[in-house]
Amino acid sequence: MVKLTIDDKAVEAEAGWTVLDAANQARIHIPTLCYHEALSSSGSCRLCTVEIVTNGKSDLTTACTYPVEAGLEVKTNSEKAIGARRLAVELLLAQRPHSERIQELARKLSIEKPSFILKERECILCELCVRACHEIVGVDAITFIAQGKDRAVDEASVEHSLDKCIGCDTCAYICPTEAITVEDVGNTRIINTPSGKLEFKLKRRNTCGKYWAPEKQLDYIIREYNLEPEIFDTCPDCRD
Ligand code: SF4
Repeated sequence: MVKLTIDDKAVEAEAGWTVLDAANQARIHIPTLCYHEALSSSGSCRLCTVEIVTNGKSDLTTACTYPVEAGLEVKTNSEKAIGARRLAVELLLAQRPHSERIQELARKLSIEKPSFILKERECILCELCVRACHEIVGVDAITFIAQGKDRAVDEASVEHSLDKCIGCDTCAYICPTEAITVEDVGNTRIINTPSGKLEFKLKRRNTCGKYWAPEKQLDYIIREYNLEPEIFDTCPDCRD
């Protein structure tokens, strides 16, 4: 076990955990936005910024990416950490002012409005959709436009590939700012993305006649898991 302190509380963590894992285990709240426990961490939103003191040196880092180490001192609510977190939230609020999730984060830090103006944008580049499509769905249908170290934040966004996308809606489900949404209209699933609409034909249940999942998604599952082609002719509800 690795022994460290978080907000002056002695905490034990397993080797390989991040500071965020250790804080969660010790029931010390650190706010997050681009973090999801089922996915790898990117630290891109910087909301989980904490101050760390190691070998007498203080620094700021993202708790979701920083590995625990023996003797590490973590301050989640120091002036320095809160200042960095406020800046992160102001940046998000300036770009996506109508997002309820971001408004809530701002309220918690008593931020009424950002102290600067940025071009509003749908996607805040949290990368949750990219990681979910790659790590959970396994189809890699989303990539960054203008990706790279020097990407201009104003120009960067995510781009969905219609060829690869199976219309599963995982990206819409996980998007924290409604930049990606899904709607089923009649026999069509529509995924609304920052780079345009994608449409998928829904499969009709043989038994009850209702539409339930994109044909492309079901074909993908049949291929991936080597299932009988007829397996989805009856929907799970009708099978019970
Ligand atoms: S809807 Fe398409 S882009 Fe979104 S997670 Fe599913 S496969 Fe990936």
